[in-house]
Amino acid sequence: MTKKNLFGLTLTELEKELAPLPKFRAKQIAAQIYKHGVKNFNDMNELPKTLRAEFSSRYEIKIADVLKRLDSGDGLTKKFLLGLSDGAAVEIVLMKHDYGNSVCISSQVGCQMGCKFCASTLKGLERNLTAAEMLGEIFFAEEFLRGESQKLDSVVIMGTGEPLMNYDELIKMLRLLHEDYCLGMSYRKITISTCGVVPAIKKLRDEKIPVTLSVSLHAPDDNLRSALMPVNSAFNLKSLLAAGDDYAQSTGRRVTYEYILLGGVNDTEEHARRLAKILSGQLANVNLIPFNPVVERNFSPPTKAAVKKFFHFLNTHGIGATIRKEMGADVNAACGQLRARS
Ligand code: SAH
Repeated sequence: MTKKNLFGLTLTELEKELAPLPKFRAKQIAAQIYKHGVKNFNDMNELPKTLRAEFSSRYEIKIADVLKRLDSGDGLTKKFLLGLSDGAAVEIVLMKHDYGNSVCISSQVGCQMGCKFCASTLKGLERNLTAAEMLGEIFFAEEFLRGESQKLDSVVIMGTGEPLMNYDELIKMLRLLHEDYCLGMSYRKITISTCGVVPAIKKLRDEKIPVTLSVSLHAPDDNLRSALMPVNSAFNLKSLLAAGDDYAQSTGRRVTYEYILLGGVNDTEEHARRLAKILSGQLANVNLIPFNPVVERNFSPPTKAAVKKFFHFLNTHGIGATIRKEMGADVNAACGQLRARS
């Protein structure tokens, strides 16, 4: 008999699962799983022996198995390949910044969005991750850091997959992560990056969970954006910027627009001028990401001079811009280099 995995269940789901046991048992189990990281029912001293035995035969508490670990030469970035119960695998990246430790997690196995510069979408979408699997990625990072006497400070959902195409499981995971009986993580410490699924951005605004929204923009006009990102043919720039602005106004949270710099494609001063124009007046900033090489993709990184010029143009024309400090490119852990491997 396969055992049911209790990891990833909300308190209400645990109460239901454990009925007719009294509700306080569910609370105890939730605390053991989420607060104390207990994986074995026999270690739950508060439970009577008979219950421990019964639970051990019916249930398990399982996050993910580490299949591979790669440490970047920068000493700050680690990439882990995590194996899931059906044999699929996803990558997560742990980064040490001066503002704390963050983990970049995946939301899907593979990706269907087809962005022309990204490795994650090369083999299409295999499947969505469940809320439990996404939470498992975060717990893996949290437990790893605890083992090094450190703590997890923030979560970015920017790994493989398009989080807003896995909407319901994503929201379930975020709410659980925020619960006091779980990690109690503030929504402000969580960033979701989307390629621009406009209806889902509108829906997210109404959830009243003020996470930070990052939008992958990458081009200042529809023609170029559609050539780089098929999603733009469904939801154009105008509708995307309106949804972003609306998100910022409703949540009071500044939206970050990510902009990959692809050498000779979208990195000239004219592109910067048009970008500044479409973002003027928005509660927004721009994060420039110099293209990270992906062998199957025919793009070149921008020159250092082009990056500097682009950055300078935006900052002197009213748009706060930063350049992403790329971490872990030597172990293919940088943006756009993650991929699904079974
Ligand atoms: N699907 C989400 C999150 C995944 S990618 C999204 O599109 O936002 C995270 C960021 O890395 C996105 O801005 C993405 O466009 C960017 N990216 C993808 N491939 C890249 C590459 N080769 N070099 C640099 N950034 C890349």
